[in-house]
Amino acid sequence: MATLAEVLVQGGQKLGQVQVLDPREARLEAQILLCHALGVARSWLISHDRDVLDEVAKTKYSDFLVRRLAGEPIAYIVGKREFFGLEFKTTPAVLIPRPETELLVELALARIPEYQSCSVLDLGTGSGAIAISIAKNRPQAEVTAVDQSLDALAVARENAERLEVPNLRLLQSNWFSSLEAGMFDLIVSNPPYVEAADPHLQQGDVRFEPLSALASGADGLDDIRHIAALAPAHLEPGGWLLFEHGWNQGESCREILRQNGFQEVEIFRDLAQLERVSLGSWGLEPCGTP
Ligand code: GLN
Repeated sequence: MATLAEVLVQGGQKLGQVQVLDPREARLEAQILLCHALGVARSWLISHDRDVLDEVAKTKYSDFLVRRLAGEPIAYIVGKREFFGLEFKTTPAVLIPRPETELLVELALARIPEYQSCSVLDLGTGSGAIAISIAKNRPQAEVTAVDQSLDALAVARENAERLEVPNLRLLQSNWFSSLEAGMFDLIVSNPPYVEAADPHLQQGDVRFEPLSALASGADGLDDIRHIAALAPAHLEPGGWLLFEHGWNQGESCREILRQNGFQEVEIFRDLAQLERVSLGSWGLEPCGTP
C-alpha cells in the first residue's frame, strides 16, 4: 500500500513527463488531483502525507490522472476554479476563468459607485465569473448577465445561487438580441477574440473549452466589432464599455472604439504587461467640442 507522499511523487513524475510541466507545477497538479480524490484541502494533505491511500480514493486519483495526462484541464476535472477570491463551478460548457480577466473586473468596479444604484450588463457571461464578482462587490448595482448558451447559463445560475447573489439577472441572449429596451451605465465583456486559424486553439487546455467562447472570425475581432457597434444604443449618457482582448489587439480595439464614437478610450495592461482590456465612455460631448 502506497502512502500519499509516494503516490504524489509518482503522479507528479508522470505529469511532468507527459504534460511537459516543470517539476513544481507537476507536483502541484498531482496535489490538486489527490485532494479532489480525497475530498480534502491542500493544507490537510501536507500534514497527512504518510497516511496510506485507500482503494476508493486510489481509483479516483488514477482516473483523474489519466484524464489530466490526456490533456483535460484541471479546472474541468475538479469542476471548479477560483476567480476574484470566489469559487466558481467550471464545466466544459464554459470558458475557464483566467487570472488576467480579474483586471476587467477591477476596471469595472472602479467605474461603479459603491453607494448608488447602477445598471451593469455582462455580455457572454459563461460561468458568471465577471458578473458575479461585480455583483458581490457592488451590492447596490443591478447586474444583468447574458449568454447565448443555455448550458453556460445553467452553470452561471448555479454559481449565482451558491454564492448568494440577489442583484443578478441571467438571460439568454445572443449579445444584445434580447435586450431591446435595456439601458445600462456600464457594459462589460470577455468575448471570444482568438483568430479562427490560431494554432493555439489546437493546443493545451483550450482544446477542451467551448470554441464559441474563444474564436471570433479571421482576425478574432468579429464579436468585439459587433459589441462596440451596438453598445451605444444600450448605454446611458456617460456610460462605459469595457472588454477584454488579445495581447496584440490593443491598437485595433482603440480604433474600433473611436470609430463607434467612444471617448476617453484607454487600454490597460495585465500583470504580464500585455495589453488586455480596452474601454471607452459614451455620449458626453468631448472636451472642446463647440
Ligand atoms: N485569453 C484566452 C486565450 O487566449 C481567450 C479568452 C477569450 O477569447 N475570451 O486562451
